[in-house]
Amino acid sequence: EARKLGRDTWCHYTGDLGAAVSERMSISTDLQNAVQDNQLTLHYQPVVDGWTGAIVGYEALMRWYHPSHGFIPPNRFIPMAEESGQIVELTQWALDCAARAATRMNQGLPHDIYVAVNISTLVFRRTDFVERVTDVLKRHNIPARWLEIEITESMLLDDFASAIEKLRELGALGVRIALDDFGTGYSSLNYLKRLPIHKIKLDRSFVNDIVEDPADAAIARAVLAVAGLLKLTVIVEGVETERQFAFLKRLRFTQFQGYLFAKPLPLETVLASLLAASGYQVLPDAAQPSQA
Ligand code: C2E
Ligand code: MG
Ligand code: MG
Ligand code: MG
Repeated sequence: EARKLGRDTWCHYTGDLGAAVSERMSISTDLQNAVQDNQLTLHYQPVVDGWTGAIVGYEALMRWYHPSHGFIPPNRFIPMAEESGQIVELTQWALDCAARAATRMNQGLPHDIYVAVNISTLVFRRTDFVERVTDVLKRHNIPARWLEIEITESMLLDDFASAIEKLRELGALGVRIALDDFGTGYSSLNYLKRLPIHKIKLDRSFVNDIVEDPADAAIARAVLAVAGLLKLTVIVEGVETERQFAFLKRLRFTQFQGYLFAKPLPLETVLASLLAASGYQVLPDAAQPSQA
């Protein structure tokens, strides 16, 4: 019975699988031209200080508008680009794009804003990774604090020692490092204590039901406590509702990211809103004679 069921299932899936495989192949081929043809862009999602409302930085998220398939989400094409090795070129492009964006965002702003780029494990492990980052900073002539990187726990899985060494070198440059999707991977607290990083991003899977689920709340609390002791900043990912936000503030989280604040946006939109916000800051000041 089970076998029969298995075969039915298999037969049922063959069609889809065939289509999926050929679609994968065509997508992977098309990815080759995507950079040159300007099909890729970065969108930017703010990270906000929930107590002051200030935007501290933006996460750069890759967007691919395929000429015939339309929008392809990163969760579909990034894994393919990792498999094919194309992620190396895509990341180089993203770093350049992010550095240019950071330059424009910081023009005329009273405080620094960073742009964070997601780095696949495969890219992080390459021996020239630190050199590539150094090179981007030099070519764009920007301070290292404008460019951050987001890595995941999977890069720790093997060769922990050389990962640490690279993180140290990046830190010495002044590049800050965030551990993304924290809580979903394999890293132990013992790893965390030895990692020369600056931030952790609490995965949004803990945030979804945080108001209703005491277990999620307990985990969030524990992560915040440990991060505090290790002097790591915590960014909460995926905040979608006022209730979640209020709840997380009661737990004393400070930095937030999520649809409640903004979706990832094109650079021009971000620049316009930064300009509007800085205009806002000038007005009250100018209205006060003592500060004129
Ligand atoms: P991530 O780095 O954890 O990025 C956060 C993802 O959550 C983004 O999805 C973002 O749009 C989404 N998100 C933000 N706020 C909310 C919210 O309130 N609710 C929900 N449901 N989602 C929210 P996106 O842009 O589809 O990217 C998915 C993943 O693809 C990223 O997860 C990252 O792992 C990968 N990725 C994206 N861009 C790049 C890139 O340039 N390089 C690499 N290596 N990976 C990338
Ligand atoms: Mg990320
Ligand atoms: Mg994340
Ligand atoms: Mg995530």
